[in-house]
Amino acid sequence: MHELSVAHAIVTTVVEALPAEPPRVNEVRVRIGALSGVVPDALQFAYEVAADSTPLADAVLMIERVPVTVHCSSCERDTTLEGTTGFACSQCGQPTADIIAGKELEVTQIVLDEPVVTGGRV
Ligand SMILES: [Zn+2]
Repeated sequence: MHELSVAHAIVTTVVEALPAEPPRVNEVRVRIGALSGVVPDALQFAYEVAADSTPLADAVLMIERVPVTVHCSSCERDTTLEGTTGFACSQCGQPTADIIAGKELEVTQIVLDEPVVTGGRV
């Protein structure tokens, strides 16, 4: 299962980025391009498995799906494609392989809990 190794990589990346005494992690945000080869629903499931017993066990994975965007050299426009096939300019129909977005597979943000205030009244 490809998504499980991707999920493990995400968890490892985030855990390594955390300070030694990490506050609670609320949310991990990732960008997944339509051409990344990762199925978002499968990644969501795999993440819960990968995050278990780590500092991210209670953190929610927020997946931002990035559609394919191609650049057309004929009319110099960038167009976003509906799917992941038929790489052609939606303006002039010219085939193009100049992909400028859609391959993303990256952690964009780690949302931590507010610092814990101790010593106050409960
Ligand atoms: Zn065009």
